[in-house]
Amino acid sequence: MSKHNSLEHLLEKNRDWAAGVESERPGFFQQLSQQQTPEILWIGCADSRVPANQIVDLLPGEVFVHRNIANVVVHSDLNCLSVVQYAVEVLKVKHIIVCGHYGCGGVQAALTGQNIGLINNWLAHIKDVYRMHQSDIDALETEKEKVDLLCERNVIEQVANVSQTAIVQDAWNRGQELTIHGWVYGLDNGRVKELGCAKSSTDDVLPSHRLV
Ligand SMILES: [Zn+2]
Repeated sequence: MSKHNSLEHLLEKNRDWAAGVESERPGFFQQLSQQQTPEILWIGCADSRVPANQIVDLLPGEVFVHRNIANVVVHSDLNCLSVVQYAVEVLKVKHIIVCGHYGCGGVQAALTGQNIGLINNWLAHIKDVYRMHQSDIDALETEKEKVDLLCERNVIEQVANVSQTAIVQDAWNRGQELTIHGWVYGLDNGRVKELGCAKSSTDDVLPSHRLV
């Protein structure tokens, strides 16, 4: 491999980072290698500008993370559901945060009907959200406003999807403490907006989706 193709600069940054953490907190990695006890599961967008740990200023070991395009929780997505199951049943996280972000490219593509190949099928889930909230979104003037409102509504729907899983409802029925939160992150200011759609018991699940 030529020098040009190597990632030596990243390996060097890694060595510096690990040494820095270790000098600030001697034994940090050794201790963390024994077990993880995160209290938070983060379900966020894969966008490079929305890194889970950095946004909430948490260290390795404090957030269990699942990211995909436009932070979608699909009822039959084994990948996402496996993460949720492990986080809830094994790690016993106390909070699940669904964090979207304004100006999300996935949400924008879903809204504008751009044909971008295979990913159309993934974005179809966001089109479903758009259909549910179409009158509110269409009433807005600019495309930016429309995209941003759909980013918020998408998070709210994904919070509902998490709450509808048997994994989460079983946990609540066992008396496990668990709250699902909906957040949207601003790329232009680094700030999180709480959407006020948190769910913390089966009373918060739509009757049509409540499991008995
Ligand atoms: Zn995004």
